[in-house]
Amino acid sequence: LTRPDTALPTLRGPVAGLPSYVPGRRGAGAGIAALASNESHYEPLPAAAAAVADAAGRMNRYPDMAAVELRERLATHLGVTAGEVAVGPGSVGVLQQIITGLCDAGDEVVFAWRSFEAYPILVELAGARPVRIPLDEAEGHDLDAMAAAVTDRTKVILLCTPNNPTGVPISHDRVEAFLQAVPSKVLVVIDEAYVEYADAGSGPDSLALYRRYPNVCLRTFSKAYGLAGLRVGYAIATPAIAEGLRRTALPFAVSALAQKAAVASLDAEEEMAARVAAVRQERARMAAELAAQGWKLQPSQGNFLWIRADEDLRARLVDAFDAAGILVRAYQGDGVRITVADSASNNRVLRLLAANAA
Ligand code: PMP
Repeated sequence: LTRPDTALPTLRGPVAGLPSYVPGRRGAGAGIAALASNESHYEPLPAAAAAVADAAGRMNRYPDMAAVELRERLATHLGVTAGEVAVGPGSVGVLQQIITGLCDAGDEVVFAWRSFEAYPILVELAGARPVRIPLDEAEGHDLDAMAAAVTDRTKVILLCTPNNPTGVPISHDRVEAFLQAVPSKVLVVIDEAYVEYADAGSGPDSLALYRRYPNVCLRTFSKAYGLAGLRVGYAIATPAIAEGLRRTALPFAVSALAQKAAVASLDAEEEMAARVAAVRQERARMAAELAAQGWKLQPSQGNFLWIRADEDLRARLVDAFDAAGILVRAYQGDGVRITVADSASNNRVLRLLAANAA
């Protein structure tokens, strides 16, 4: 028997229109420097590795769906209640819950561009409309333009500080003025994936702002804590929003291994801070050396550097990095982002850029 018709299932419009994920070369090979994903170059914190090994013995069981231990530990750590913490499979997972939880089809989500590549994808997937506001001259958020873009359909605004890929933070005062300017029914999400790498005072005191304005702080264990491969991130939100996020979560999305590793990482805060300090020192060394080479970069507050490049320069740099076995992230028409890592890898980057300086 054959089927009477021949039509095949089709993806709905927004999904069919999404860019395909093209995996980059992975950084495992000898001599390859993996500087494309803003990961931590350190091996996992010993306490996190031990917690994972221990939890692995119980992986026939589902994880705690409510992630009670992790949420309580985060709450203590941050000075909020566990009811104000929602965790998810990476902060990108939490962000997807935020957008699907707040946006109906046709609603708008405003964000700066260029910023984190997942923003427009998550918005389109939800059937909402991405509203991209170009960065200002200094590669930072144009908050006036972002506030002016708010309409009756705007449900969420994403602020990324320090911004990926440019590294530029938004100052506390500017964020506060922005929160005062936008209607309170619009949820402002402050994405702080790289907050641990930022100089004190360079960006907003987002927890203090959260207490006065019911916005959301989004953070992750993927970057400074070095747990990118385990997928765990979190939001600090009002109890009502946090509860909504828990309701929209995929059941058991954060594995038991990830929950245990995250708790152990919070215990190893000092070790994490020492690693972060080393990366910040390398960032400063690279910025100084690149300035001496004649590159004009905005100071970065993340664990990465951003080279604004026209298409010619970008193509030249991509070829040079490829030939050198250094994996970096290039954005067509915009520039190249390079993760700051160990000093040997960083020196390779510096030598390559010296050879390609204008
Ligand atoms: N926000 C920003 C700004 C990022 O750069 C990233 C990772 N590249 C994320 C969120 C998501 O990180 P994760 O899902 O691993 O927590």
